This record gives sequence, structure tokens and C-alpha cells, in this order.
Amino acid sequence: MANERTLSIIKPDAVKNHHIGAIIGRFEKEGLHIAGLRKCQLSRAEAEGFYAEHSARGFFGELVDFMTSGPVVVMVLEGDDAIARNRAIMGATNPANAAEGTLRKLYAASVGENAVHGSDSPTSAAREVGYFFRAIELS
Ligand code: GDP
Repeated sequence: MANERTLSIIKPDAVKNHHIGAIIGRFEKEGLHIAGLRKCQLSRAEAEGFYAEHSARGFFGELVDFMTSGPVVVMVLEGDDAIARNRAIMGATNPANAAEGTLRKLYAASVGENAVHGSDSPTSAAREVGYFFRAIELS
């Protein structure tokens, strides 16, 4: 297995509901190292740029509204197979379809407000990590 870095975001709903500690604790318990971490409030331009691949989708405006509705925590997770392992810990996009024990099953209310983000491929991970962090900020 390759050692990988992936971007994780604790979304505004999970921050507002005080799940930051539980979510970070879960990643550490699962053996993923926190290589970088910052709490921030995204501007509309920052959220639009981050989710640019979804700009033609009908839900894009709602997605940007949600991601700018309050602070988020952006993190870089590192470990063997970190991209796929983070996706497995997160669960399906729609919490109604997410497996028991996954973060979205535990903490998300709807497909729109679904608690966490995780990069879905090595290409996305490289872009997304670079979107929020400089190399010197990761260790
Ligand atoms: P992910 O990789 O599991 O996060 O899922 P996608 O890449 O398909 O979608 C990106 C994000 O867009 C999701 O995590 C949701 O926050 C949002 N999203 C996806 N589908 C919908 C939808 O039907 N309605 C709304 N409001 N948001 C959606």
C-alpha cells in the first residue's frame, strides 16, 4: 500500500454541532496521521473554486451556500491508502445510504449537509491539498 495524503474537510454542519473532536479522534483511532489542520471560514470564491468540477450541477448554488454558512476545519490526513480509507470512514454521499458507524451515518442529516469531505482520487487529493496548504505547513 502506498503512503498517501488526502484532504478532509469537517463541514459547517458538523462544526456547528460540535463534532470536530469526535471526527478527528476517529481518524487518529483508525491510524490516519493529521499532517496539517486549520479552522477557517470560506469565502464564496474559495468554495466555488474548490468545488469547480460541480459548477454545472443543479445543486452548485446550494453547495456553495452551505459550505460558506459557517466555519470549516480543513485537514490533511496521511497514511497507507489514506484516500480510500478516508472515503470508507466517511461513508456514502447521502447519509441515508451510508453504512452503520461511518461519519456520515453518525453525523450527517442530508445529502446536502453531509458532515465531511474527502478527496476521491490521487489527482483530486493533490489539487485539494495544494488548494489549502503549502508544503511547509505539512508534517
Ligand atoms: P462526495 O465525493 O461523496 O462528497 O460527493 P460528490 O462529489 O458527488 O458531491 C460533492 C458534494 O456536493 C457532496 O458531498 C454534497 O455536499 C454535495 N451534493 C451532492 N449531491 C447533492 C444534492 O443533490 N444536493 C445538494 N444540496 N448537495 C449535493
